[in-house]
Amino acid sequence: MVAVSSMKCACDACLCVVETTRAIAKEGKYYCSEACANGHPDGKGCGHEGCICG
Ligand SMILES: [Zn+2]
Ligand SMILES: [Zn+2]
Repeated sequence: MVAVSSMKCACDACLCVVETTRAIAKEGKYYCSEACANGHPDGKGCGHEGCICG
């Protein structure tokens, strides 16, 4: 049995839910994309459908 855990992207504005195995892990938090993990340095969102972060 494989445990798959999902959690919301640690980016506040982000609505994405990511599997911890696929997420970008940074400083103990999980993000849905590099952009989120880096705090949106160039104002780009994660690019996921329906997500308003960035
Ligand atoms: Zn997102
Ligand atoms: Zn984000």
